[in-house]
Amino acid sequence: MDNFKNVLISNDLNALKNIDKIDIHNHSVSSCTKKYLIDHGINIFNDKIDDIQSLINFSRKYLTPLQLDEEGLAMLLNGNFENCIDTGVKYVSTEIDYKNCIRTFNSDVDKFIEFLKSFKYNNLKIFWDLGISRDSYKEEYKNIIIKLLNTKFFSGIDLTSTENSIPNSQFKEFYDLANSLNMVTKVHAGEQLGANYIYDCIKDFNPKQIQHGIHIVEDEKVMQLAKEKGIVFNVCPTSNIVLGYAKSIKEHPIKKMVEYGLKVTIATDDLLFFDSNINDEYIKLYKEGTLSVEQLDDIRLFGLSLFENN
Ligand SMILES: [Zn+2]
Repeated sequence: MDNFKNVLISNDLNALKNIDKIDIHNHSVSSCTKKYLIDHGINIFNDKIDDIQSLINFSRKYLTPLQLDEEGLAMLLNGNFENCIDTGVKYVSTEIDYKNCIRTFNSDVDKFIEFLKSFKYNNLKIFWDLGISRDSYKEEYKNIIIKLLNTKFFSGIDLTSTENSIPNSQFKEFYDLANSLNMVTKVHAGEQLGANYIYDCIKDFNPKQIQHGIHIVEDEKVMQLAKEKGIVFNVCPTSNIVLGYAKSIKEHPIKKMVEYGLKVTIATDDLLFFDSNINDEYIKLYKEGTLSVEQLDDIRLFGLSLFENN
């Protein structure tokens, strides 16, 4: 296998595709390419996505209707996993919202899990995170979420969408349960809101991983806390720029996070919205001089170690 560092320096995209990587901040229904959808007869118009609200609107307009039946949902998921394989992702940890159990499988937990289990590939290992979208959460969904967590099928849990739109106290019970089941507890925090909110999430949820977390660089005390706890940050630079949470790749907070010694992985978030696959993310960070080839290779190898050293 080619050496990752040489491949990055020589900008050999084909060789880069053959080098093992992980993607552990990946939303399962929005991670296929636009081309894949067009090839499958889906009309996705060029609605502009440049902030979190336009992303949510796009999702509701085009993606939710496709998830009303198994066939549409399977099409979206297959597109995600095909892209993972095409780009050299060996392990993907992907978020699927509990709402899919309700809307696609009429709340039949067994059927939902049977369906997820059917996605199997020789050269890609899939780990499922149970997603809970803050924005649409209601107390009446509590029982099904607890039931899904207790199946022990999901390897992780992830709290998504608008940060703090509902108080953390509403979700604490899920995180206590997930931590007690030794799941990979993830939470989206510090993308839209500042370091204070990351601090609140660390205190409230005791997460093992934070999705984005880029605003942590604003507060050294929170960085210190995250470092002591060994929290892993799954950072998606292009997503942050498109949605307006970071100025540029060159000035992206990932640099400061890495230099401070935080554990970081590089990920794609929603390929369909941001049009930047895992290899693109590595190339951009290298070309802009944000991180060195050594730092990028260390990040890649650290990611693989999360799956291969246990
Ligand atoms: Zn995300």
